[in-house]
Amino acid sequence: MVDHSVIADKALKSTDLIVRYSLDIDCPYCGAELDLSDQDDENGRFSSPIFNNRWEDLVGDSVKCPDCAKEFIISNVGF
Ligand SMILES: [Zn+2]
Repeated sequence: MVDHSVIADKALKSTDLIVRYSLDIDCPYCGAELDLSDQDDENGRFSSPIFNNRWEDLVGDSVKCPDCAKEFIISNVGF
């Protein structure tokens, strides 16, 4: 007796899951809306703590605004 439910499961199509994310922060000086996932993220400086569940490591980190060139501190990380 063939179990048709198992055969049906094996016939399911599969496809890749693509991760898209942004790390949004507003410059407290000029109000520029920055995305730290595509700027200033060399060596995963910002993304690595996020993906390794160490969000609190980013609190106190400094960011330099590309628009006004001022430096500011990350006070909290949330989603
Ligand atoms: Zn700025």
